[in-house]
Amino acid sequence: MKSVKLNNGIEMPMVGFGVFQVSDEETEKAVLEALKAGYRLLDTAAVYGNEAGIGRAIKASGIPREEIFVTTKLWIQRENGYENTKKALEDSLTRLGLDYVDLYLMHQPFGDVHEQWRAMEDLYKAGKARAIGVSNFHMDRLMDLITCHEIVPAVNQIETHPFYQRDAEIAFHKELGILQQAWAPLAEGKFEIFSNPILTQIAQKHGKSVAQVVLRWLNQRGVAIIPKSVKVERMLENREIFDFTLDEQDLAQIATLNRDEIIFNHRDQIGRASCRERVCLYV
Ligand code: NDP
Repeated sequence: MKSVKLNNGIEMPMVGFGVFQVSDEETEKAVLEALKAGYRLLDTAAVYGNEAGIGRAIKASGIPREEIFVTTKLWIQRENGYENTKKALEDSLTRLGLDYVDLYLMHQPFGDVHEQWRAMEDLYKAGKARAIGVSNFHMDRLMDLITCHEIVPAVNQIETHPFYQRDAEIAFHKELGILQQAWAPLAEGKFEIFSNPILTQIAQKHGKSVAQVVLRWLNQRGVAIIPKSVKVERMLENREIFDFTLDEQDLAQIATLNRDEIIFNHRDQIGRASCRERVCLYV
C-alpha cells in the first residue's frame, strides 16, 4: 500500500478504511475483513461510537500493532479546554485498547480550538499520538491555528470528491506541508456519483469502476483517501487503483464536474433547523 511521509516524518498509508455510520459490532467484522484485504489505516472517531469495535478487530487480526495506522478524533467538547481534551484521548485509547494512536484529529473547528490544540500538542509530545491534525478546517481557521501554535497540523481531513474538488485547499495544504485527506471520497454515494455519465465513460475507457476512477483521481492529486464499505468486494475494489493512470483528457473532464456540491458545510450552521443535530449527523 502506497504511503506518504507526514510533516513530522512518520509514514501514513495513502489509502485507508473509514467506519463512519457503522455500528460497533459491524465495525469489528468490517475492519477484520478490511485488514484481511490489506488495509493498514483505520479511520474512526470518538463520536462514531465504534472505537471499541476497531480495537477488538485489531486484536483479533493478530497483526502487530505497529503495522496498523489508527486515526481517531476529538469530538466537540461540552466543556472545552485543555484537561478535557487530554481526558478525551485517554478515553478513546481505553475504548480502542491501545497505548497510542497514530493520528489524533480535532474533528471540527468548533469550541475552544486553541486550548484543545495546546493539549493535543502535549499529547503528541507525550507519545500518546504519533501525529496530530485537524478536520473540517477551512483555510482561514487553519492559518489562525498555525499562527498561534508551535506544531503545524500534519493532516487536514476534509470533504473532497468530484462535486466538491477543493483545488484551492489542495494548493494551500501543499504549500504548508499539510496532507489533505478526503472524507466522503465517493461523495457517500450521493449526487448519483456511480451513474455519472462522465465518470462512467472514463471508467469504461480504463476497464475500471467509477469508484476506482474517483479514488485514483484523488490519489493523482495527492489527496489521501479513506473510503468506507462494509462489503468485501468493494473493499478490494477500492484498493485496486494503482494499475492505471488518468490522462490529461480524463482530468479535464472530471474538472468540469466541480459544482461545490457540499454534503456538510462547516461554515453555514445558521438557519439549519437543528444545528447540533446536523453537526452530530456529519462527523
Ligand atoms: P464514502 O464516500 O466513503 O462513501 C461510502 C458509501 O459508498 C457507502 O454507502 C458505501 O456502501 C458506498 N461504497 C463504498 N465503496 C463503493 C464502491 N466501490 N462501489 C459502490 N459503492 C461504494 O463516505 P464516508 O462518509 O463513509 O467517508 C469515508 C470516511 O471518511 C468515513 O467512513 C469516516 O471514516 C470519514 N469521515 C470523516 C468525516 C469528518 O468530519 N472528519 C465526515 C464523514 C466521514 P457500502 O458500505 O454498502 O459498500
